[in-house]
Amino acid sequence: MTYRQKTKRILLTSLLFITSSLIAVSAGAAQLAIVIDDFGYRKQDDNRILELPPQVSIAILPNSPFGREMAEKAHRQGREILIHMPMAPISKQPLERDTLRPSMSAAEIDQLIKAAIARVPYAVGMNNHMGSAMTSDLTAMQHVMTSLSGSGFYFLDSVTIGSTKATQAAQGKPVRVLRRQVFLDNVQTEEETRKQLNRAVALARKQGSVIAIGHPHPSTVRALHKLVPMLPPDIELVSPGYMLTHAGKPSSVRPLPVKPVKPVEKEKQKPAEPEKPC
Ligand SMILES: [Zn+2]
Repeated sequence: MTYRQKTKRILLTSLLFITSSLIAVSAGAAQLAIVIDDFGYRKQDDNRILELPPQVSIAILPNSPFGREMAEKAHRQGREILIHMPMAPISKQPLERDTLRPSMSAAEIDQLIKAAIARVPYAVGMNNHMGSAMTSDLTAMQHVMTSLSGSGFYFLDSVTIGSTKATQAAQGKPVRVLRRQVFLDNVQTEEETRKQLNRAVALARKQGSVIAIGHPHPSTVRALHKLVPMLPPDIELVSPGYMLTHAGKPSSVRPLPVKPVKPVEKEKQKPAEPEKPC
């Protein structure tokens, strides 16, 4: 074997080793889903979010002026789309048109959900915009889940209140429910988003997967553009839908969260925190 052939063989072996190590990392990777809410109002900021990797998912407000346009664009990129369904908060604040309220009948809720689905093409899931009053009402949320039953949609609970009944309401129905654990921008600074993204990474490593929600605020956009390309190699950026069908770490090695109610308790004290008009 010539020197040249030897070098080639060593190089090939090293390459194979590196490739198999990478595969090993991705097989045991912890999953992180990032969903950006409140899409459809601020075209410029929304477009900056659409420059992020397509694994970052978006949630579109059904009555927003640019919602359909953003859905078309995101779909062409292979990006996952959710309907960001307006739901009534406890606190008094300006509401989106066709906001779901606990006092509505099953038929009214079904009609508004079907209209939202018709307005946001390509959506595969739904999460709540605001909703501290709506999501804490079991009967109202059962109407939501009944309406979603035939759609194949999953429901991502934004968890804007600790007493949310979304998971309970889906029991016995073919709607899969996921929960948001981290808000990336309750405080609109790059530093806060960096801190919360680090928290999401730590939770993903501990639990196997985590869902973080952010908004198209300029500080969030700037932070994500810097940080998403630098995510550690043991963290796999995925969509919530992917998470539902491809579990990360095997559940046998996934430790239970030590205090799963802690972040929820914190929000209980200020349920209106993420419920800003957009
Ligand atoms: Zn929202």
